[in-house]
Amino acid sequence: MARARRPLIAGNWKMNGLRADGLALACAVAKSVERAGWTDRDVLVCPPATLLAAVAEAVGDSGVAVGGQDCHASARGAHTGDIAAEMLRDAGATHVIVGHSERRTNYGETDALVRAKAEAAWRARLLPIVCIGETLAEREAGKTFDVLASQLKGSVPEGATAGLLVVAYEPVWAIGTGKTPTTVEVAAAHVHIRRVLASLTGEAAGVRLLYGGSVKASNAVELLAVADVDGALIGGASLLADEFLAIAKAA
Ligand code: PEP
Repeated sequence: MARARRPLIAGNWKMNGLRADGLALACAVAKSVERAGWTDRDVLVCPPATLLAAVAEAVGDSGVAVGGQDCHASARGAHTGDIAAEMLRDAGATHVIVGHSERRTNYGETDALVRAKAEAAWRARLLPIVCIGETLAEREAGKTFDVLASQLKGSVPEGATAGLLVVAYEPVWAIGTGKTPTTVEVAAAHVHIRRVLASLTGEAAGVRLLYGGSVKASNAVELLAVADVDGALIGGASLLADEFLAIAKAA
C-alpha cells in the first residue's frame, strides 16, 4: 500500500558560497524552519563540500537536513579531488544528489555511473536524489519520455524502495534559464516517471518525485500543486533565504 509522500524541498547551492555567506544563508534557513516547526515537509540544503560540516553544525537540530551535491562510487582510494559518500556522511550529510545534469554534461557521467553513486549513497546510509531530465533537442525531437525511461532504468539501482530513493525530474533546458515546462507537461512527465518506476520497484507509489528547473517563489505554488510532484530541487533560488523559504512554505 502506498505511504503518504512527504514533500521535500531541496536547495542545491552548486559551486556558490564562501564560509561567511554560506553560514549566513544556512543560519537564516535554519532559523525560519525551526520557527515554522513543520512536521509535514522536509527541508534540505546541499552546500559545496567545503561548507558541509560547518553548515551541518550551524543548522543543528533545526529540522534542516544537509546533503552533498555528488559523491564518488568508491568508499576510499586514489581518486584525487573526489569525495566518498562515507565522507559526506561523516561531515553531517544525510542526503546526496547524484546524476545532476551538470555532472552528466560536464563530466560525461553515464547512467551506470549514476547508479553506482546511488549504491554508494546507500552503502553510506545516505538518501540519494537521482536526477534525470531531457535536453531541449531531445524534447523537440519528441524523445522526452524515452529519455526519462532510459535514464531511470539505467540510474536507479536494484533494490530501490520508497524510503531509499528520491527522483528529481529536471528538464535540462529549464535549469537556470528561467523557463519551465507547463504544469500539464510536468504532470505528464511525473506520471510517466512513476509508471517506469513501477517496473523497477514495488514501492513506486511511495517514491518522492521532485521537480527541478527554475523553481522560484513566484511559480512554486502552481508547480508544487501538480499531482505527483512531491517537492522541488532548487538551484538559483536556494541561494536567497527568503525565496527558498517561500518555496518551502508553498509545499
Ligand atoms: C538545479 O540545478 O538543480 C536547478 C534546478 O537549478 P535552477 O533552480 O537554478 O534552475
